[in-house]
Amino acid sequence: MITRDLVGQRSETVRRANLSTIVRELHDRGPLSRSELVARTGLTRSAIRALIGEFVDSDLLVEERPAPAGTPGRPSPLVRPNTEGTVVMAVEIAVESLAVAIVGLGGEVLEQIRVERPRGHHSVDEIMADLVELTGRLTTLHRYHDALVGIGVGIVGVARRTDGRVSMAPNLGWVDVPLGERLAVALPFGVPIHVANEADLGALAELRRGAARGADDVIFLSGDVGVGGGLIVDGKPLTGAAGYAGEVGHMPINPTGSRCRCGSVGCWETEVGERALLARAGYSADGGRAAIDDLLAAAEAGVPAVLVALETEARWLGLGLAGLVNLLNPRLIVLGGLFGRLYPHLAKTLEVELDRSSLAAPGALARVAPATLGEDAPLLGAAELAFEPFLTDPAAWLGPRALLEALASA
Ligand SMILES: [Zn+2]
Repeated sequence: MITRDLVGQRSETVRRANLSTIVRELHDRGPLSRSELVARTGLTRSAIRALIGEFVDSDLLVEERPAPAGTPGRPSPLVRPNTEGTVVMAVEIAVESLAVAIVGLGGEVLEQIRVERPRGHHSVDEIMADLVELTGRLTTLHRYHDALVGIGVGIVGVARRTDGRVSMAPNLGWVDVPLGERLAVALPFGVPIHVANEADLGALAELRRGAARGADDVIFLSGDVGVGGGLIVDGKPLTGAAGYAGEVGHMPINPTGSRCRCGSVGCWETEVGERALLARAGYSADGGRAAIDDLLAAAEAGVPAVLVALETEARWLGLGLAGLVNLLNPRLIVLGGLFGRLYPHLAKTLEVELDRSSLAAPGALARVAPATLGEDAPLLGAAELAFEPFLTDPAAWLGPRALLEALASA
C-alpha cells in the first residue's frame, strides 16, 4: 500500500509539473497547435490531449478548430490561453504616476488606467487612498473578479519579496513601510499580493515580451529620478538573499560626487539620474518630464550645452555599465525609461566608454539596445510577477474553480 501511495504521489507531481509546462508555454508564446506543444514540451500526444482536456473543462485554455489548410492530413487543433478565464491585477507606484491594469493569461492587457501625480513626497496613506480610488475605476474588475489569481505591485523602491516590505523608497520619502500588509487591507480581493522593485519588473517584462526575449543573461537599466536595474542571470532574476539585489543606482561610483537621496555619496544615480542630467544641461534639476522633453528637443536642434551634458551622461553610463559587464558577463544590456528615450543621443559615446573600461572578452559580447515596451514595462512585469504562482502550479487553481462551478450549477 505504501508503495502504491508513493507511486500515486509521484505521478500526481509529474502531472502537475506537466500542466505547468503547458500553461507556461502558451502564456509566453501565445497560441500553439497540439503538434507544436508536443514538440516544445517533449510530452506524448496522448498526454497533451488529456492535460489540455482538463484545462478546457476548467475554462483556462481554449481549443479551436484550425482553418482547413492546403496540406494533406488532419490539421492539429490550436490551443490558446483563455485570456478572460484567468486574470491578474497589476499596480505600479512610480514617482510621477500611478497605474493599475487587468491583464489576462497570455499577457493581454484587458484594461489599464494611468494617472499623473504631482511630484513631491507622497505619504503611504495618500497612495493607498489613490489606489483604492483607481481600482474602483476599473470597469472590468467586477466582471473578472472570479478569474483573479493574484496582484503584482511594482514600486520605485527597495522591496523585500517575501512580504512586500519596502525598506526604502527615497523618491517617495518612504522608509520601512509594510506595503504588502497595507495593500492587503486596501485591496481586499482575497488573492496573493506580490511586491517587487519596478526596475526588476521592467526587466522581467522585457525578458518575457520585449527587447530581451530569448536572452538568458541581461542587464536591464532603467532611469528617471532614480536609477534601477534588473539583473537576469542564466534566465532567472538575480534577487539576492532577501530580494534587494540589483540596486545598481546606489552603486558607489564617484567618491568626490554629490550626496544621494539614500544618504550615501557619489552613487551612480547622482551622476546619471534625471536630476544630474538636467542640472548639467542648464535646466532646473526638478523639471521632470516636461524639462526632459525640452532637453530632447534642444538635443535635436544641436544646442551645444545640451550635447555636452549628454556626452557626460553617456560617459558615466558607460563607466558604470563596464563594471557590471565585467561582473556579470551579459549578452544584452537593455536601457529603459529615461535612458531608453535618450538612447539615440547616448549610443555612440556610451559604446566607446564601455569598450574602453570593460574587459575585452565580456565587453565584446555585450550588446546595448533600447527597451521596446516603453513606460508600461514595469506594469507588465508586475502582471508577470502576479502570474508566477499560477504558472508554477496551475493545478492548484483547477480544483477550487471546478468546485465553485459545481456549486454554482447545483
Ligand atoms: Zn544612493
